Amino acid sequence: MKSDNLHIIDPVETSLARDYILKWGVKNQRSFNWRLSNSSYEIFISEFLLHRTRAGQVSEIYDFFIQRYPNFESIAETTKSNLREDLKTIGLNWRIDALYDCALRISRDYRGILPLDKTTLLSLPGVGEYIASAVVCFCIGSIEPVLDTNIVRFIGRFYGLKITDSSRRNKRFKEFILQFLKTKNPRQLIYYIIDFAFAVCTPSKPKCTSCPIKTVCNFGSGGGIRK
Ligand code: SF4
Repeated sequence: MKSDNLHIIDPVETSLARDYILKWGVKNQRSFNWRLSNSSYEIFISEFLLHRTRAGQVSEIYDFFIQRYPNFESIAETTKSNLREDLKTIGLNWRIDALYDCALRISRDYRGILPLDKTTLLSLPGVGEYIASAVVCFCIGSIEPVLDTNIVRFIGRFYGLKITDSSRRNKRFKEFILQFLKTKNPRQLIYYIIDFAFAVCTPSKPKCTSCPIKTVCNFGSGGGIRK
């Protein structure tokens, strides 16, 4: 990738990297039960719990949680202290309280059915841009700017964007991930990117030497940071 191509998304290089990750993911993706679900409730719960918690930790309690609380009404019918007890292994009481308040709102205002428009989702307690984008993308298949820490790292390095604490809300990161996700199944590609960033494009010591997309990756080919 040439660093003089500032501000330009090269469609050929993007396509090469996208195709590679789509192939890589078939053999190397991680298996989590929530990835197989098409239930908007289960997708919402998994993304809510994954926010700020490692997937391995969530997988330890996910099946138990879905069995005990199969819908929003079942959460609304318990108490915050019961919910905190059932989720104590992953902690973050502010998040558990927000989940409880969400369940109350959805049960009361939407008859227990998750609204799937981003504006309404963003009005729910504890729901930010990442959860709203992921839920809409995974439930209805639209291409959304789903940017978690792993995806930000990959997109930042690949396109040569400076990574900061606010990158998830940055307009250019959103623009670049929307381009990268142009495929028939953006949900699948998002899972593959997350797993690729977890296994190959790691936070420290990314495996650039053996990475097949290094010639089209800004970081891997020694390109600079876009201004
Ligand atoms: S070349 Fe390095 S920085 Fe680029 S995608 Fe591969 S592992 Fe990540």
